[in-house]
Amino acid sequence: METSTKYIFVTGGVTSSLGKGIIASSLAKLLQASGYSVTIQKLDPYLNVDPGTLSPYEHGECYVTEDGAETDLDLGHYERFLNIHTTQLNNVTTGRIYQSVINKERRGDYLGKTVQVVPHITDEIKRCIQLVGTKHRFDVVITEIGGTVGDIESLPYIEAMRQLRYQLGSANSVVIHLTLVPYLAAAGELKTKPTQHSVKTLLENGVQPDILVLRTEKNLSMEIRKKVALFCNVDSDAVIQSIDVPTIYDVPIKMSEEKLDQITLRKLNLPQNKVAELCKWKEFLNKVKNPKNEITIALVGKYTQLPDAYKSISESFVHAGAANECKVIVKTINSEKLNDDNVNQLLGEVNGILVAHGFGNRGIDGKFAAVRFARENNIPFLGICLGMQCAVIEFARNVLGYSDANSTEMETATEHPVIDIMESQKKITEKGGTMRLGAYPCKLKKNSLSEKIYKQTKISERHRHRYEFNNTYLEQFAKAGMIAAGINETSGLVEIMEIPSHRWFIGVQFHPEYKSTVLNPHPLFTGFVKAAMEMKNTD
Ligand code: GLN
Repeated sequence: METSTKYIFVTGGVTSSLGKGIIASSLAKLLQASGYSVTIQKLDPYLNVDPGTLSPYEHGECYVTEDGAETDLDLGHYERFLNIHTTQLNNVTTGRIYQSVINKERRGDYLGKTVQVVPHITDEIKRCIQLVGTKHRFDVVITEIGGTVGDIESLPYIEAMRQLRYQLGSANSVVIHLTLVPYLAAAGELKTKPTQHSVKTLLENGVQPDILVLRTEKNLSMEIRKKVALFCNVDSDAVIQSIDVPTIYDVPIKMSEEKLDQITLRKLNLPQNKVAELCKWKEFLNKVKNPKNEITIALVGKYTQLPDAYKSISESFVHAGAANECKVIVKTINSEKLNDDNVNQLLGEVNGILVAHGFGNRGIDGKFAAVRFARENNIPFLGICLGMQCAVIEFARNVLGYSDANSTEMETATEHPVIDIMESQKKITEKGGTMRLGAYPCKLKKNSLSEKIYKQTKISERHRHRYEFNNTYLEQFAKAGMIAAGINETSGLVEIMEIPSHRWFIGVQFHPEYKSTVLNPHPLFTGFVKAAMEMKNTD
């Protein structure tokens, strides 16, 4: 098979949540810093066509790309680490694979053949893996296979990987297997047996890993590494430890120390053109670790049990905190527990309030209480998507005096639908992939706070919603002190609302958190953190 793109597969063993996405992102960062163009792809073994229909409680946040794909949150890590855009091609699910094979079968493309997992599903997986590399001509594609080796649903992916390795030739692909070496406190020992077993499972499926990355809480001795190498048929310098670190942004540095990039390049027959240059990354890390200030931001939402549900927002605060040399403590507040009576007690001490995105009625009153508290007490406020819609409804109720004002998502019969379903959404009945999704341009109002923050008038941001600000109320809002500071010029949709008399009050219909990266912190988050710091230091 002729190819100039090299393929790296990352699999996981022993347990889930070992951080395959972070290891893949860290390796990609190092290869990118060595001068290679790299992208990362995630294969997810579930039957949903995309995670857009998955509850954030189940699977964490749904990440949205520029081209409007609803994807796994690992793509957020890829973009934050690499400072590149990913696309729909970077996230493949079993649901999508089957959908495409079944569509072909219905069209008659298989010409009377029996359609089977092998070869039809595996062929489709291989096509998707290669497409991401060939379409945009990357030097290296890293494909992360979700789930744990040995799972029933991962099998077609492992088989596709086995075939592809055979077809590509050994110098064009590498398999990195991530496992866990647990420390048994009672025995005072690190145990390698789970790793040996998970490599055996891979071998049973016909795949010999080239590199093993071992998650561990204690340093692994040479002796342990050699033992793992001997029992798992890998070079002893290809047994790499990934020790627990305080922040995920330490991992590229650790992987560089362990020479993961050099070993990978060697196995792919690629020259190490230049030593991975990580100056800016280290500068960022230094700021994360040595903050000069500290602020607390309340993150108000209903998906508070699972920290991953607001992953991009919390990472955006790490980036924006570093840019301001400030530690941002994010205090998550369950909006279901928040009301006008306890809001002072729960939010009285914070330096900024963020009301997050979301769907449906549950916990909505707590969000209104948070908005009102921020508005009336001149506390920096950022509303994201539903958070902006809540800010609009709260303003309509308590400033314009429309006590029944609402979004038609919450109350179809409201007399004052200040937030209403978009015209383009009215006829849509299917839930999956049908929202207003992906990047849209937005024009900022001259002299608005947003324009000052972005330092430009034309911006583009990513969306994921069905409802919008109802423009029939625009004038009334403006007269009472809440203005549209950002508009989509083609559709007329309001994208940003501001209260100019307030210290810092911005609601955005889009999701700025999807675009914040280590090297490009998002201006709205840096501006918000700065305003919160200023308030803390002056009031
Ligand atoms: N539920 C709201 C809508 O669909 C907001 C969506 C969101 O916060 N992402 O418009």
